Amino acid sequence: MSKTTITLVGGGLAGSLMAVYFAKKGYQVNLFERRPDMRRADISAGKSINLALSTRGLRALEKVGLKETILTEAIPMHGRTMHDEVGQLSYQPYGTEGQYINSVSRGGLNIQLLKLADENPDVHLFFNHKCIDIDFKTGETTYLNEAGEKVVQKADYVVGSDGAFSRVRLRMMKSGRLDYSQDYLDHGYKELTIPATADGQFALEPNALHIWPRGEYMMIALPNPDKSFTCTLFYPFTGPNSFDTLKTKSDVEGFFNTHFADAVPLMPTLVEDYFENPTGSLVTVRCYPWVKGKAALLGDACHAVVPFYGQGMNCAFEDCVILDECIDAANGNLDQAFQAYQKSRKENADAIADLAIQNFIEMRDLVGDDDFLHYKQVEHTLCELHPDLFQSQYEMVTFTNVPYSVAKTKGAQNTKVVKKIIANGWEDKITDRTFVRDVLEKQDALSS
Ligand SMILES: Cc1cc2nc3c(=O)[nH]c(=O)nc-3n(C[C@H](O)[C@H](O)[C@H](O)COP(=O)(O)OP(=O)(O)OC[C@H]3O[C@@H](n4cnc5c(N)ncnc54)[C@H](O)[C@@H]3O)c2cc1C
Repeated sequence: MSKTTITLVGGGLAGSLMAVYFAKKGYQVNLFERRPDMRRADISAGKSINLALSTRGLRALEKVGLKETILTEAIPMHGRTMHDEVGQLSYQPYGTEGQYINSVSRGGLNIQLLKLADENPDVHLFFNHKCIDIDFKTGETTYLNEAGEKVVQKADYVVGSDGAFSRVRLRMMKSGRLDYSQDYLDHGYKELTIPATADGQFALEPNALHIWPRGEYMMIALPNPDKSFTCTLFYPFTGPNSFDTLKTKSDVEGFFNTHFADAVPLMPTLVEDYFENPTGSLVTVRCYPWVKGKAALLGDACHAVVPFYGQGMNCAFEDCVILDECIDAANGNLDQAFQAYQKSRKENADAIADLAIQNFIEMRDLVGDDDFLHYKQVEHTLCELHPDLFQSQYEMVTFTNVPYSVAKTKGAQNTKVVKKIIANGWEDKITDRTFVRDVLEKQDALSS
């Protein structure tokens, strides 16, 4: 019997991982990627240079045996280090003992996934193939290759893993009913560099995610294995304080010297980086349905989120796990599996999209605020002392596989509990387990 064939459009993070999952199930997979093969060409992996990988993403990698390989190159970040305007530092752990997020290279991770996919004889990779069309009834996809020739491929099923500006999704929109929204933040982002010091060391504490919160805007920095940091400035596109107003070398130097003074001496190529690197935009994409005829969407193609919870890739990797489980539950009937997958994922994708926007406000505004630091301390103590009773929203999103929609609802309830404890001055009572259980139960009763 001939094998069921699947076309994957897009060989970024989600597409290359899904190729491995499909091949493990015995499907014949053809993956088409618009860009050159990043294993051979020195190309930018696009978007951010490094990313925060956490529990959901790690689970997806573990299932294909890649977790340990990726963790070897990853740098653990145990908490946030905040830099205030005068260069004073404060620190908030992300979770309890043993809980941390991992800074990984986007390019390195994508290359490992492509390599793993390519090891399977049932996977065929096609680079420099840009998808331009899809027929949802026949499973036929059309590409333009490097020579500008049209290439047509027919498969039993198609998965569109072609990112936030997905061509597959665009064709779905044009060919019938599809709810769709696209919301840009007023802020864009620009990547900058803190290189290793002259003696080859990290210029900042490496096991933390660094944040320079400044209210309307912020800069963050994540460590890289070569002992550099990649900084990202999130700043409005237009207005009195915006990318628009930083036109000259002295504008850039003046802005950074005023607002990020402690970072400037560590950024010798600041001005060059600023003018050479593009300014990226940040978008939330929501759509439904994710399935049309023989095709389904995966990852950013159906749910691009802003990066402030560090979950876009983790969510896209979780899509792969859930789709894989849906295929098992449907005994290999892909039509049924696609339906079950979209039903189960939609509310979770919406939840993480909302939480990511909320976290932007927290990161740029609140992390430096004394009340917020106190809130975080109380929350952290509750998590440490009563892990079976209380989990923070951040913990649920980042360190568990609890569905995002549950983390959103339950996390909001727990936030109210912490606020209530602080408002009533009950901080000294939180060591008492019975007291904490009572407060939580009362909150549950109020919420139900
Ligand atoms: C600044 C920034 C920081 C981020 N930080 C984090 C983080 O810390 N943690 C985290 O979990 N997530 C993070 N994310 C989100 C993460 O980058 C995405 O969620 C993730 O890349 C989604 O993977 P994907 O495979 O769906 O899409 P992509 O990674 O975008 O891959 C899509 C692929 O499809 C290809 N493609 C596009 N169009 C076509 C076409 N027509 N034909 C063929 N191929 C095509 C593209 O070339 C690309 O290779 C961040 C995003 C940004 C912008």
